[in-house]
Amino acid sequence: MSVTVASLGFPRIGPRRELKLALERYWSGQSDRGELLAAAAALRAGAWARQKALGVDHVPSNDFSFYDHVLDTSAMVGAIPAIYGWTGGPVDLDTYFAMARGAQGEAHAECGHGCTHKAVDVPAAEMTKWFDTNYHYLVPEFSAGQAFALSSTKVVDEFLEAKAQGIHTRPVLLGPVTFLKLGKGHAGGLHRDALLRAILPVYAEVLKRLAAAGADWVQVDEPCLVLDLAAEEHAALRHAYGTLADAAPGIRLMLATYFGGLSGNLETALGLPVAGLHIDLVRAPEQLGPVLAAARPDLVLSLGVVDGRNVWRADLEAILARLEPVARERDIVLAPSCSLLHTPIDLAQETALDADVRSWLAFAVQKLEELATLARALNEGRGSVAEALAASSAAARARRTSPKIHDAAVAARMAGADTGLARRASPFAARRKVQMEKLGLPAFPTTTIGSFPQTEAVRKARAAHGKGAMTDAAYEAFLREETARTVRWQEEIGLDVLVHGEFERNDMVQYFGEQLSGFAFTKHGWVQSYGSRCVRPPILFGDVSRPRPMTVEWWRYAQGLTERPMKGMLTGPVTILNWSFVRDDVPREHACRQIALAIRDEVVDLERAGARVIQIDEAALREGLPLRRSDWRHYLDWAVECFRIASSGVADATQIHTHMCYSEFNDIIAAIGDMDADVISIETARSRMELLGAFAEYRYPAEIGPGVYDIHSPRVPAVDEMAALLEAARARLAPEQIWVNPDCGLKTRKWPETRAALANMVAAAKQARARA
Ligand code: GLN
Ligand code: ZN
Repeated sequence: MSVTVASLGFPRIGPRRELKLALERYWSGQSDRGELLAAAAALRAGAWARQKALGVDHVPSNDFSFYDHVLDTSAMVGAIPAIYGWTGGPVDLDTYFAMARGAQGEAHAECGHGCTHKAVDVPAAEMTKWFDTNYHYLVPEFSAGQAFALSSTKVVDEFLEAKAQGIHTRPVLLGPVTFLKLGKGHAGGLHRDALLRAILPVYAEVLKRLAAAGADWVQVDEPCLVLDLAAEEHAALRHAYGTLADAAPGIRLMLATYFGGLSGNLETALGLPVAGLHIDLVRAPEQLGPVLAAARPDLVLSLGVVDGRNVWRADLEAILARLEPVARERDIVLAPSCSLLHTPIDLAQETALDADVRSWLAFAVQKLEELATLARALNEGRGSVAEALAASSAAARARRTSPKIHDAAVAARMAGADTGLARRASPFAARRKVQMEKLGLPAFPTTTIGSFPQTEAVRKARAAHGKGAMTDAAYEAFLREETARTVRWQEEIGLDVLVHGEFERNDMVQYFGEQLSGFAFTKHGWVQSYGSRCVRPPILFGDVSRPRPMTVEWWRYAQGLTERPMKGMLTGPVTILNWSFVRDDVPREHACRQIALAIRDEVVDLERAGARVIQIDEAALREGLPLRRSDWRHYLDWAVECFRIASSGVADATQIHTHMCYSEFNDIIAAIGDMDADVISIETARSRMELLGAFAEYRYPAEIGPGVYDIHSPRVPAVDEMAALLEAARARLAPEQIWVNPDCGLKTRKWPETRAALANMVAAAKQARARA
């Protein structure tokens, strides 16, 4: 039987973020369309040649994108909202980028309510997270009576482009059912049946054109198959694939599922008239048995055995032991669990990483090498790759026992941790009384979320210091001066609870990861977050501990400048976990508990240094929710427990704040309540306080700072506008519950609008007090 190797998608940003650079040059007018297209073509050619050379039999095409593959699909089917002024024909680059980023018009001096920002003529389409990844896609938008027509031949063009380079690719399409499921409609609701009927002819046309161009296999991604699906969605899948199978008899469809198991959708998936099925055996190894038992003998199975969502080297002998019996029975394709879009490109670039840690890792290139090794072992016997297998096993063994990973002190502390650690001494009502006495704050107290503008000067100083061009002492002095100025200014405008401004922090997770043991950082391990934006997630590889206090000195300095309470500012354990690559040798909750204990120590040290108010940000708590509802309870239980471990080491009089910058709480309000923070600040300005309904209904007992202005825009809200929002909040909450603050941190803003907006905010709070 034969074993081949497939790649479901390769990172598109380029080994040195070439795509980011090319896009940003083009957007800023420093390059023209020709240069952008040439850069993109070079990246594609490089990725194809590289994958081919690594031994990949099914090299993907159309996995490249100028911005996002979901947006590419909207362009392919001509789902372009009317506001973009597109009138049919091929979707041009300007329209495409207008949907991705909005199109800016002329500067407006005034736009009705005294704002001074540049008016955006056309806003970008809405962006949201791709399943449970940190990749963001542009949400497809369908109008009433939406019609579809083939409006981009990108998928065919790229197939031909590769063909001209001598590489026969397997084009990738986002499947119609997942595409429609991700979309949103306008008033009147979405008629998904009608949309599906309308969109299938476009997909059919694409498949016909691909067949004419010489394609044989086409990968169709339907990750919706790992979600809980309604009966009509099962029917939609049957209808869609029944139609597509007939459309282009020369094309063999590889239906790709990933990010989880098929579970209840297994029967539907196996009943579809497709030539191949890809399953994720990293997230859901248990589905191999049921799939093998029920799959048609001629169905080509693609087995996702190497983790496409994480950075760990695979244990090849362990994988082989599972695959050998399967490969004796049928032809199989070996693949990463999902597209490699979510991993960094090449470990070879990480020359500065600790050698042991490095020996445990595999990025996109190394993962494809692993697959080629596995395929050879299965086709020609283990002896043909004995050395590679031995190296893999040795690395796995070393990782299991390395003292860099396993810290006896952390293990002992974890073993001794009991539930008492996750409980404050007294319930909120009792804490509130002592906190009020100690803090003596006015009604409607004002504060901010933590960061102040990271100006050009701040970024320059950080870069210079990083490069060694600025001494520690000079950098330190610079940061102190920024901090002092910010503290003084907050006092002047009359804020009640101050912050130091976070000027010393590069990033809210990295800053802590760099000071904790158990984390490693890459130089080039970039992963696309959206468009040209890339992130370099920390790699959590071992037991976590805190060698020394992380924020106490900065806090002490800032508090020394003022009598008013200075907030201690920390990132919470769940957020640190969710924004990192996490070790796969222990359960996520286990790693999170270790981080929680480390943050707890910091909280206790801040209190000991005199902090009366400590904020623990959990910006990423909600996004960690598992894809299937049935898994939510378990996640929320441990996530909440970790927050409580981090926050419960202090006396009743110490006020614990948390912050979450999003506005959907209906699903998780009980968990938010269980976190038992004294104050929570949330995003509300854009939803006009509507989301407070969830808090009111739940009878949330503690204090809430519903953001009164949207920090995502430079617009300065007027006093009346914020006062009206506070009125709206009072309609839903008791006045003594309400804090006054912006939606989130101010690091992306500039000083002039920040000053004006916060001064107005303080004035709005004073109005609210006068009315109390
Ligand atoms: N304290 C952080 C800040 O103000 C919080 C950022 C966030 O929640 N995303 O920047
Ligand atoms: Zn925030």
